[in-house]
Amino acid sequence: MSGPLNILYVTSEVVPFMKTGGLADVSEALPRALRAQGHDVRVVLPCYGTIPEDLKGVRSGPCSARFNGDSIFAAWRTARFPDSDMPVYLIEHDLYFWRDHPYGKGNTEYPDNLERFCFFCMAVLDFVPQTGWVPDVIHCHDWHTATIPAYIKTRFVDHPLWGAMPTVFTIHNLAYQGRFASSLMPKTGLGWELFTPKYVEYYGDINLMKAGITFASKLNTVSRTYAKEIQTELAGHGLEGVLRTRADDLCGIQNGVDLAVWNPTSDRRIPANFSVADQAGKRVCKEALQTRLGLDQKDVPIFSMVSRLVWDKGISALVTSLDQLLKKDIQVVLLGSGDLSFEQALLKVAQDNPGKMSVTIGYNEDLAHLIYAGSDFYMMPSRTEPCGLSQMYSMLYGTIPVVHRTGGLADTVTDATPGNLASQTATGIVFNTWSDRAFINAVNRALRLYGDASAFEQVRRTGMRRDFSWERSAREYVQLFREAVAAP
Ligand code: ADP
Repeated sequence: MSGPLNILYVTSEVVPFMKTGGLADVSEALPRALRAQGHDVRVVLPCYGTIPEDLKGVRSGPCSARFNGDSIFAAWRTARFPDSDMPVYLIEHDLYFWRDHPYGKGNTEYPDNLERFCFFCMAVLDFVPQTGWVPDVIHCHDWHTATIPAYIKTRFVDHPLWGAMPTVFTIHNLAYQGRFASSLMPKTGLGWELFTPKYVEYYGDINLMKAGITFASKLNTVSRTYAKEIQTELAGHGLEGVLRTRADDLCGIQNGVDLAVWNPTSDRRIPANFSVADQAGKRVCKEALQTRLGLDQKDVPIFSMVSRLVWDKGISALVTSLDQLLKKDIQVVLLGSGDLSFEQALLKVAQDNPGKMSVTIGYNEDLAHLIYAGSDFYMMPSRTEPCGLSQMYSMLYGTIPVVHRTGGLADTVTDATPGNLASQTATGIVFNTWSDRAFINAVNRALRLYGDASAFEQVRRTGMRRDFSWERSAREYVQLFREAVAAP
């Protein structure tokens, strides 16, 4: 098949309907990029209670799913992306999805998450035939949608539409696997015969990510390096063995950046626009950031971070290093939320360092844009990082990333070594082995770079010129879809 493809894109979050992290950004940008290349993409997600009314579209029909003899009924709605005619379907089931958060409150996951998302997957397979539109391939993302490939290869194997349907399963973050007690097996809609280590059993539990890995026609993750790392103990989170058995069907496709949203030359959320050629606006943004966050108006380097405050983001390295870092003539800006212990530790240091460090707990898209635009360095000491978007945003906004060499960070940031500076390819500071000490050393390297105005400018400008557009990645996805269609 070489013509345009019909792609059913099933996800648990997508901008602007629902966002908790990078998956939502990808789920908006990739469908748009595929559509721009002539493919018919339709996106499906749950109809969460927090989705603004004007985005919810219209109720289009009923749908249902059968689990263990019981039928559960819901509705499907048809909406559109803003400024686009691309359909977005929403599965409406108030008991499951009319909640303040998609997955849980604070650090506590909802106890019925397995039931909610298995229902979602089954409802998708029920309503799509009603639309009259026939996909060529289904694209699933992370454990929330991982049972779709399993349903297709088991209970829908004789279904006239779904029986031979190719699936592509994208792993955005292997750390979150959808692991549940075996007693919930009847609520998965999968037979007990699949509860074996070959299929969905994982050390006595159900592992939904494993279902996706096992049953999808093709697999990918979101950077080349992460695709290799997850086949090892380092980042496999216990699934490295299963992933190795599917190595021939697994590849890495780097996420891109949605340049309609993340572009310093046109971003409406920042007080002044700027470009490689005209950087005056960057200074305006820096001053606006200092004013907004109550930092001293001083010409010192600002180190920032916008992140979920969780273990794998390497937040502990920051917390332990702050005392030492704040002795230097720098300012630190942090926006994020997550583990209470990290939140409290960071707030305490900020309280002790007024005018020098600012911590904002919560989620704030406008402030995030201002931080990327107004900072000098962006800290990303992630222990593992499947792709990472923030380092790309920061480079495009002239903010130099300081990163651990892992996953997508290794693939997107070029270290400011003497060789890379000489060849004018450096875009950031990269440290090799994860430790508090290595992170502090990297910040010290960043400060030395800041002290060398011409090298600093060169690194900053090289990063701003990097091409992170989705176009190339979308073409790689199309290639993967075609491979799945050829060998479902
Ligand atoms: P992950 O998906 O693992 O959280 P990524 O770097 O891939 O990490 O993507 C994170 C995205 O979420 C970025 O767009 C980042 O700017 C955004 N983000 C994270 N925390 C916040 C926050 N507290 N406020 C605003 N945006 C945030």
